[in-house]
Order: sequence, then structure tokens, then C-alpha cells
Amino acid sequence: MFTALKIEKDEAGYRTQLASLEDNQLPDGDVTIKVDYSTLNYKDALAITGKGPVVRHFPMVPGIDLAGSVESSSNPAYQPGDAVVLNGWGVGEVHWGGLAQKARLKGDWLIPLPTAFTPRQAMMIGTAGYTAMLCVMALERHGVKPESGEILVTGAAGGVGSVAVALLAKLGYQVVASTGRPDEAEYLKQLGASEIIHRNTLSEPGKPLARERWAGAVDSVGSHTLANVCASMKYRGVVAACGLAQGMDLPATVAPFILRGVTLAGIDSVYCPRPERLEAWERLGQLLDTNQLELLVHEISLEEAIPAATDLLAGKIRGRLVVDTNR
Ligand code: NDP
Repeated sequence: MFTALKIEKDEAGYRTQLASLEDNQLPDGDVTIKVDYSTLNYKDALAITGKGPVVRHFPMVPGIDLAGSVESSSNPAYQPGDAVVLNGWGVGEVHWGGLAQKARLKGDWLIPLPTAFTPRQAMMIGTAGYTAMLCVMALERHGVKPESGEILVTGAAGGVGSVAVALLAKLGYQVVASTGRPDEAEYLKQLGASEIIHRNTLSEPGKPLARERWAGAVDSVGSHTLANVCASMKYRGVVAACGLAQGMDLPATVAPFILRGVTLAGIDSVYCPRPERLEAWERLGQLLDTNQLELLVHEISLEEAIPAATDLLAGKIRGRLVVDTNR
């Protein structure tokens, strides 16, 4: 028997509860994992609350990421006891996920736990932090350098935003953090932001082009915010777009792209190819200070993840929520 969050949808409605499950209920897969830590990401919160169409089959165990050790494996790449990390691949959406004490899945989806981190530290970063790294790598790939100018991070006090601020600052970029929570200014400065702006300067409908300011941007917000970010990029600036916390729409014009050569780089962490994942995790290990990571983390139990999902969607959670699956 093991404990997991279980999402059900039937005549009685959509609900998420703590449940005791049998090992023989685990889905197909060639590796069984003892999960030590998982996390609560925006997508997990949508799944747990049913506020977004994340879950494709019921019943579902949510949790798009996990860290733990291999319990048994018929995959030659993994032996019992190996420490592993998982992000994405539809886990927690179409395949039972990490908000559980056990998971069974395809070994090809796993990566070895980076040597720089304990399982808990890997989940302090989690999918949000790994996505932040993918965003930074996209800016680099498109030629944005510290000397290019200011980098804007939107949704800065959230999971992706917090890690993006820390990574960019460590790489020597001048980071401007946009947040709806000015009381988190001190926190964002501790992570490395040089200036804080209020998100309402970006969230209302704007003009096709605005004053050129940003050399690069990491956007986890979408909607009018992303449109305004594109409109205020410097000539040949680059925006890494990964999220939709304000909305899935993009009410923009082509003006920034055809008049200023702006690049809009889309970031998907779920099906990101393995070599890029491995690179992202290696770089996270090089760049993130594990003491600084403690700043952005709050630890909760599996059961506490249910009410925390509502708080996360309401934008009340600072940084990252780590879930100790054995607490
Ligand atoms: P969080 O909830 O931790 O952070 C989102 C932040 O966005 C909030 O903290 C808040 O920041 C800001 N925000 C919330 N609501 C609004 C609003 N209405 N208008 C403007 N800003 C708002 O989520 P995550 O960091 O885990 O994820 C962020 C986004 O990135 C989500 O949309 C998620 O789905 C997406 N994502 C995408 C991935 C991919 O593969 N493409 C992977 C991981 C995440 P503040 O208080 O500072 O304003």
C-alpha cells in the first residue's frame, strides 16, 4: 500500500483526495520509483482543483515532477537504488504522477539525479525551475548577453519567475522583476533583481509598439502582459514565453516582430528533448546556490497540497512549494 493524491471525476463531481492505493494499481512502466519529494507547480494546481483541462484520464494521480530512488527496474539503464528525477512527459496528466509515495513509469523519461542536488533540492527547483533554465538557455541561444541590456522577468515572485531571476542574476544579467506583490520586493532583490516594477504596468491592453527597453524577457504570464513585453523589446530583443498565469490569449500585433526584429521563443518543458533536459539540469547544478534556494521554498505534505493548489492559483504562493510525500 502507498499513499497518493487521487483525482476522480464522475457524477459526484471533480474531486482530489488523499488515498491509499495498492502497488498492483500502478500504471504500466519499466521502472518503479519510491518517491521522496514532488512539488506543486501551476499545472498541478490546475489538475488538483479542476480549474484547467490538465487531466486526460480518471482516476489520476497528479504531479508533473518527482525525485526519488528506483525500487525495481526492467530497464537496463536503471538499477534499484539509483537516484532519479522526472519532469513532464505527460506524467500527472495522462500517466499517474509524482504526488504519491510510489510511481511506475517509462525509464526513458527519467534522468539521473544531478550530483549537485539531493532529491529535496532537485524538487526545490522542480519543473518550474527547470523551465526557467530552458528560458534562459533560449535567450542565450538567440544571442542575448549580459551587456545587451536589461532583462525583464514577469510573474517574478512565482516559481518560474523566482528561479529565472536567480539564474539571470548569477549569469551577470541586469534583471528587472515584474510582480503584483510589491511586498515581495526585498525577496526579489535577495534573489538578484536590480529593480522591481508593478505588474499592472504591463497587464492592461497596450499599444502595438512602446518605448524600447528590454534586451530579453522571461514571461510566465501571457495575455496582455506578453503583448506589452513584445511591444517594449529593444531592437532584435528576445522573449522566452513559457506561461499563461494571466491568460492563454496573446492580444498582440506583428509590429514588434516585423519592425524591430523581435524574437518570440516558445518554451515547452514537457516534451523537451533529453539532451537539452540534461544540459538544463547540469547548468542548474552549476548556477544555483542551494542555500539561496531555501529562500524560495516552502515544504508541505501530500494532504496540504490540496488546499495549497487553490492558494497557488490565487497567486498567493511565493517561490516554490516542495511536497514531502512521506510527511
Ligand atoms: P506560479 O503560480 O508559482 O507563478 C505564477 C506567477 O504569475 C504568480 O506568482 C504571479 O506572480 C503571476 N500572476 C498570477 N496571476 C497573474 C495575473 N492574473 N496577471 C499577471 N500575473 C499573474 O506558477 P509557476 O511559476 O509554476 O508557473 C508559471 C506559468 O508558467 C504557469 O502559467 C505555468 O503553467 C507555466 N509553466 C509552463 C511550463 C512550460 O513547459 N511551458 C512549465 C512550467 C510552468 P507575481 O505575484 O510576482 O505577480
